[in-house]
Amino acid sequence: MKILKYNDTVTRRKVGCVLRKLIESVLENLSTRDVFLFRVFCANCSAEYASKPLRFTKAGVTPTTQSKKIIYDAVYEQEFMAARQAAIRSTAEHMNYCPICKRLVCNQCFLICDDLDMCARCAGELQEQGSPVMTAVIDAVV
Ligand SMILES: [Zn+2]
Ligand SMILES: [Zn+2]
Repeated sequence: MKILKYNDTVTRRKVGCVLRKLIESVLENLSTRDVFLFRVFCANCSAEYASKPLRFTKAGVTPTTQSKKIIYDAVYEQEFMAARQAAIRSTAEHMNYCPICKRLVCNQCFLICDDLDMCARCAGELQEQGSPVMTAVIDAVV
């Protein structure tokens, strides 16, 4: 079984604001009328990270009057914005901003280095050493 192991230094070394802006700019909206869903891809390995699907509270409910329709539409808009913010927050835990190439990369492609954390491709080009935020390891039978 493949498990993912976290590097403990990750959380305190995240570049929060820049990362969130980058996520916002590339976040794909896959939401429907019933479910809110968003995703991004790692620019290095193309791994997908999708947010947890959130159900619209009025999903499947048909408004009986024009007034109700207006209200439901506003509820949808509010819940959409909240779901999008939540997706950006959770994505930030799984993705990183590389300050060298400015790309969004996943935790397996992002290295904690001595001077500056960066993606694996940049680390290779700049001959920097580092350990991934998250490594795929084969789970030993304990
Ligand atoms: Zn990746
Ligand atoms: Zn990079």
